Amino acid sequence: MESLHTSNPGLDIGSRSESEQPDHALAWDTALSTLAAVLVYVAVKVTLDGRKHKVDVKVQLGTKFCEDYLRRLPAADWPRVIVVADGSCGESCSVLGLSSDYTVESCQAYGANATIERLDQRQVPTPEIRAHNLFFDLSAYGVEALREHRNPTAKPGFHLKIYGTFRNRYMALVCPASDTKMVRFLRHTANATIMKNIFHQSFNVYKTDIEPRLSDVTLHQLQCSRRLFEVQLSHRRVSAAYIDGDNVAVIVEGEAARVLNFDTGCGVNLGMRGLESLGTFIYSMATAVDQNDVLEALSAKMTHSKQVAHDFKCTGLSEAMYV
Ligand SMILES: Cc1cc2nc3c(=O)[nH]c(=O)nc-3n(C[C@H](O)[C@H](O)[C@H](O)COP(=O)(O)OP(=O)(O)OC[C@H]3O[C@@H](n4cnc5c(N)ncnc54)[C@H](O)[C@@H]3O)c2cc1C
Repeated sequence: MESLHTSNPGLDIGSRSESEQPDHALAWDTALSTLAAVLVYVAVKVTLDGRKHKVDVKVQLGTKFCEDYLRRLPAADWPRVIVVADGSCGESCSVLGLSSDYTVESCQAYGANATIERLDQRQVPTPEIRAHNLFFDLSAYGVEALREHRNPTAKPGFHLKIYGTFRNRYMALVCPASDTKMVRFLRHTANATIMKNIFHQSFNVYKTDIEPRLSDVTLHQLQCSRRLFEVQLSHRRVSAAYIDGDNVAVIVEGEAARVLNFDTGCGVNLGMRGLESLGTFIYSMATAVDQNDVLEALSAKMTHSKQVAHDFKCTGLSEAMYV
């Protein structure tokens, strides 16, 4: 392994509103720095532990990963490794010919997200707040929650998380999949003010004491999902590949490999789980003696990637939200 490149073209991955961009940039930069740090660590470890020849490790920020970049990769006798980690909207995989097929799996839960932006508040990160077993009074809409609540067979209530900064508050609301009247109603209602009221009231009850309440006047600062949606994990069917002629192995990490349609507030953890097998993978590639070794390393990496998705489906939401 001669060199290791990471890149950051400063692309705008704008799946959320423009007003959130500064914080996106912060989150993205943090995630990218983490990835870069892990990659450099792994490369240096390979240098120290593996065959003791000199290795030139380069981290190139500000590089656009495109076809031209691939063409300019110098030829080498040993396999090169490309780690694609260009986020949920990245297109590097298609440049590299990796299929964009995803497996979409239900996490057996329904959720909704909300953001509150208050420009007069400080951009100070806050400890997350969690609240459990919440029930909402929807009797005004003809939903008798209390009767269900007393029914021992009814599923437990909602879990709420409040996180972010005082300026940019994020909220996640989730409940295990069930067919109670309340859940059915919140999944199908066409009245968007109901979810807004739920987030409004929940925020005022569970916020920290030192931040202002949301009032009817400031309610426009709250944006949220219109109704509950099924929480789903999408993960790539093919997360590793070998480009034969060029002797290049490609693996996909982070949200480019697996992504939720629900913001748990700790999405980086899912990406970090994928990186757990990166050290072994790069080591195996650096010490591969033939193509069989390379294919074995790629296959092990893909198995781990599938395992990460499977584990998240089984326990991910409960770790992120239910406890
Ligand atoms: C507003 C917001 C707040 C969040 N807060 C938290 C939080 O507090 N805690 C938490 O755990 N998670 C949080 N998340 C989620 C977290 O940001 C993501 O889970 C994480 O950033 C995913 O990391 P990633 O490296 O897969 O992708 P990204 O962070 O999206 O990084 C992808 C990088 O690839 C670059 N790129 C794109 N195309 C190319 C190309 N062709 N060539 C080269 N580079 C390219 C992009 O510019 C970007 O820098 C938050 C997300 C958002 C949107």
